[in-house]
Amino acid sequence: MIVHSWVVSNVERAVNQDCIFCKIIAGEIPSAKIYDHGGIYAFLDIAPVNKGHALVVPKKHYATLFDVPPDLGRELTTALQAVGRAVMAATGATGLNVGMNNFEAAGQLVHHAHFHLIPRHAGDGLTLWTQHAYESVEEMQKLTQAIRSAIG
Ligand code: AMP
Ligand code: ZN
Repeated sequence: MIVHSWVVSNVERAVNQDCIFCKIIAGEIPSAKIYDHGGIYAFLDIAPVNKGHALVVPKKHYATLFDVPPDLGRELTTALQAVGRAVMAATGATGLNVGMNNFEAAGQLVHHAHFHLIPRHAGDGLTLWTQHAYESVEEMQKLTQAIRSAIG
């Protein structure tokens, strides 16, 4: 048990040491900080989709959404709303996309869970992902059942 804890804490430390967002939160590398309350930190994305594009991150290192403790939900929602409102106000945006990439197949490059807040302007030319149709109502119903069962 003691050995297990030692291994886990050292594995976590090794992962954190390699993590650019952990370094930003620790102040070891600079960031354009816009929010720092409780367990949540936010800063401007260095390569914005639109100017004002912000990243909202838990201060502790969690790799994906599935590793974030649900207890952090309230603080996280508060931060998403506060930063989202402020980004919209400061940029004059009339819309806001909130997005999150989880795992490499979904485009996650930084393996420290984070939410993208992207200010949007009417006619800014950004397009979201392409949508498709199900082959049949049955296919959609089958998938509905499979997902319900997986939730349990
Ligand atoms: P993702 O693909 O969801 O993992 O997005 C990672 C995001 O982090 C990208 O949009 C990058 O532009 C952004 N990023 C990477 N390094 C930095 C940095 N040092 N400061 C600010 N944003 C960064
Ligand atoms: Zn990290």
